[in-house]
Amino acid sequence: MKKIYLDYAAATPVRKSVLEIMMPFFVEQFYNPSAVYLLAKSVRKEFDQARAKIAKCFGALPAEIIFTSGATEANNLAVSGVIEASPGAEVIVSSIEHDSVLAPAKKYGARTVEVDEFGQLNIEDLKSKITDKTALISVMYVNNEIGSIQRLSEIAKIVESVRKKRIVDGNIMPIYLHTDATQAPLFFDLNVARLKVDLATINGSKIYGPKQSGALYIKRGTKISPIILGGGQEYGMRSGTENVAGSIGLAEALVLAQADREKNLEKIAKLREIFIQEVNNIDGLHFLGRSKLSAPHIVNILFYGEDGERMMMELDEVGIMVAVGSACSASSDEPSHVLSAIGLNDQDARSCLRFSFGVDTTESDVKIAVSELKKILKKN
Ligand code: PMP
Repeated sequence: MKKIYLDYAAATPVRKSVLEIMMPFFVEQFYNPSAVYLLAKSVRKEFDQARAKIAKCFGALPAEIIFTSGATEANNLAVSGVIEASPGAEVIVSSIEHDSVLAPAKKYGARTVEVDEFGQLNIEDLKSKITDKTALISVMYVNNEIGSIQRLSEIAKIVESVRKKRIVDGNIMPIYLHTDATQAPLFFDLNVARLKVDLATINGSKIYGPKQSGALYIKRGTKISPIILGGGQEYGMRSGTENVAGSIGLAEALVLAQADREKNLEKIAKLREIFIQEVNNIDGLHFLGRSKLSAPHIVNILFYGEDGERMMMELDEVGIMVAVGSACSASSDEPSHVLSAIGLNDQDARSCLRFSFGVDTTESDVKIAVSELKKILKKN
């Protein structure tokens, strides 16, 4: 049975060219980059080059890039790091952030901004939630469950006006905009001067790089405290012996993602259209969060009255891998907070499937998946 993988928003395979670049750093060039002998210094040089490559993709300085163990750690560092650095600081998040933003934000009593049915942030609600103590606003670039894209530069304008007002008022609390860009680099611009963000998270495992690799862009001058303390690596912002191979792989994957982003966008948007056309003649479904501001690789569908989890398992039996819209973890039976935030009731939130496409997905994969989906729906 041919396996068809349609869960690229959860994990992407490491590109062969990325793996090849990483390989020497496991065995021959295994040295600790902080050691002082010549061979270690050459490892340090390659590691620094990886940082510089990532900085270039952001249009940033190398010292503004902190390597982390993935997006979860980068998001934790952004939230906890900024709030811990300024006594009394408060944080605002969107209601559809990933749990790795929501959970640390909750620790600091975060205010939550609502989104509409398309997963678009309510700007007026955001404005009304900013206080004199707001130090961080965290709004994701592309949502991982429904693919909605946020207008970051519009949010940044609000942040900038608050910043200016604080100068006039003599309020010394800083205010920053963070974005979790985990799902963005394959398709969209990461230039921080254009996006106007102060902090940004990337994640190797969603861009054909290694798992447990990631980075946080932190604009120079940002008031932020480290959350992992120890040997002082990463400019004191993230201690621990560096993940040299992972960081080098991340940098290569990011460079490729950004170089190919127009090609990726065109290819995957075309696949999405084919998929939507094929699915469209099924009765009793609703595409979630679809608007002009949607990423091409994620399509989340509500099949009224169906059990998403059961459909997912039935698709798996015929070799098709997708995700349930309600991201129930083994330990929790709560429906997805993202689907609730866009207005779904619990029952509908349990009737969703997320299909996500990748650079290796073919037209035939998409057509086979839809035909199997139709068989399952007919049976039920
Ligand atoms: N943010 C977003 C938007 C994600 O999609 C994910 C992964 N699902 C994460 C953060 C967390 O990534 P990781 O588990 O690799 O740290």
